[in-house]
Amino acid sequence: MPQLSGSMCAHSNEEESPMLIWGFKTLFKTLSEGVFFCPQCGGDRSYQLKLARRWFTLFFIPVFTYKQDGVHVECQVCKGTFAETALQRQTNAAMALGKRDAMRAVAFSILRTAGTPSAAARAKAAEAISSVVSSAGAYTVAELDAEWATAHIDLEGTLVPLGDAMQGGGREWLLSWAVAIASVDGEVSAAERALLDRIGALLQMSSAHVAGVVATAQRGARA
Ligand SMILES: [Zn+2]
Repeated sequence: MPQLSGSMCAHSNEEESPMLIWGFKTLFKTLSEGVFFCPQCGGDRSYQLKLARRWFTLFFIPVFTYKQDGVHVECQVCKGTFAETALQRQTNAAMALGKRDAMRAVAFSILRTAGTPSAAARAKAAEAISSVVSSAGAYTVAELDAEWATAHIDLEGTLVPLGDAMQGGGREWLLSWAVAIASVDGEVSAAERALLDRIGALLQMSSAHVAGVVATAQRGARA
């Protein structure tokens, strides 16, 4: 799959000797393939990691590698090319799974703080987890009942990476769901309020920011 042709030069030694045709051509070798978030066409796309090598050609046939021109990532949809660092960004699918894990950790923590959560609180928690659209599909109350009391919870491990990655209203949205679960059975208790503060802090929100989101979400829950 030659993409670029090097300059072709024709050399003639003596009048009677055969013409020696040589040149350079860049060939690409695919090192790996996968799915990445394409910064150009803006979505999860297939990519190929390619190594560009400049070959010396003789009679149009590559004879030896003249030099390596480095690696790049090529989007298989828009054909845009990027530095290898483009692979470090999370795909949308990975981001959705991360958000789902975070919502699950938040919902379970609130339920455990409540002690014996009501059916309404558990239904609200399942709704919160389902609201994170991911390849995992809907999350049922039956699944929640099998998990919430005993599953391993890692609030720090799931929330801290999201605090870095979530843009715009993502953190407020997550915290608002936590308030909604906590206030289904009435007022938010002191223990639940302390947990909301901790969740906000892990998402790198100031305490004033958290207080504002909690007040707004509580007004919404009462209305
Ligand atoms: Zn693309």
